[in-house]
Amino acid sequence: MHNHIMPTYASLPVRFIKGEGAWLWDDKGDKYLDALSGIAVCGLGHAHPEVAAAISEQANTLMHTSNLYFIDKQEKLANKLCELTGMNDVFFGNSGAEANEAAIKIARRFAHSKNISNPVIVTMNNSFHGRTLATLTATGNPKVKEGFAPLPSGFCHIPYNDIQALEGLAEQQTDIVAVLVEPIQGESGINIPATDYLNKLRELCNKNDWLLMLDEIQTGIGRTGTFLASQQNNIKADVVTLAKALGNGVPIGACLTHGKATGLLTAGTHGSTFGGNPLACAAALTVIDILERDQLSNRATQLGEKMRVAFEQALKNCGHVVEIRQKGLMIGIELSTLCVELVSKALEQNLLINVAGGNTVRLLPPLTISDDEADKIITTVSDLIIAHSPIISVQ
Ligand SMILES: *Cc1c(COP(=O)(O)O)cnc(C)c1O
Repeated sequence: MHNHIMPTYASLPVRFIKGEGAWLWDDKGDKYLDALSGIAVCGLGHAHPEVAAAISEQANTLMHTSNLYFIDKQEKLANKLCELTGMNDVFFGNSGAEANEAAIKIARRFAHSKNISNPVIVTMNNSFHGRTLATLTATGNPKVKEGFAPLPSGFCHIPYNDIQALEGLAEQQTDIVAVLVEPIQGESGINIPATDYLNKLRELCNKNDWLLMLDEIQTGIGRTGTFLASQQNNIKADVVTLAKALGNGVPIGACLTHGKATGLLTAGTHGSTFGGNPLACAAALTVIDILERDQLSNRATQLGEKMRVAFEQALKNCGHVVEIRQKGLMIGIELSTLCVELVSKALEQNLLINVAGGNTVRLLPPLTISDDEADKIITTVSDLIIAHSPIISVQ
């Protein structure tokens, strides 16, 4: 049945057919606890009844008209996003990569407005920005680029969390126009930079008239304890990209601009057939309503902290645990060895986890999980990590 799927994914041999909250059921009736939320997408858990009702109502009313006409819910969603973030304008697409494509096009337009004809966008080593040609070029991981040359020009990579590297680059490279960066690197293993890193980037961007473009596709929508992770630094970016949890599973991406990044994409310069259609916007509006009403960002802060402390306690005698990194409900446990097999070992125990960067257990549970569910994740993951000890396994 699976053999007509283009083999771009190394999927695990399990088919989920139903979900509720933090739980998924497979086609054999077995139940799994989801500590990954479909890669930070289902922040409100699976089959959230209010999101389902909003989608159903919208589907029964109007799904799509195209952007040839005003779309009421799109305007409402843009207003809400700008109210929550202090940004000015929003472009809607259908994915994270598309949100970042819009950001890249904005940086190019910004460059041309300043008569820079060969602009450079600085991105970070070990970053992830998507799989389209431009976003995989921006991505700081050579593996995603293999075999796809020729790649678009105009990107330059430096180490993450290294302000001096950027200052050094700025001395040699006068055509920089923007810095595209994740507040926390998710795909490469929950890498959390120095607390003032984003502030220093903001200062450097101000000083040099570069756009600060934050990829909050994974960190956004409350996951790290505030609507945007960058709000914990009290800074405003020129461009912010969102996707993943914005629709709780309905595909939607957004590129938000502020100040000098605003107004650069004008009629005819960019577009998307589906982007911001009534269905996707109805879902996202409901997601945000619930996020606010149930104060899920605060919940992420409190539960995330509690989970980190519990992991520290449970793993304190584990010599092979290098570091536990956590902000809100983005949790990474780095081991001294590769540990990709923990994903299938966890699956055998009916728990969904992920390993990022080869050696970091990554947990992105729904923001709605209960204390008991969190305890179950802590116990199962800790036991798996303890059993993975290189010392135990050679006995
Ligand atoms: C997932 C992700 C993307 C890409 O999003 P898609 O919807 O898969 O295109 C880009 N940036 C970050 C930080 C992500 O986590």
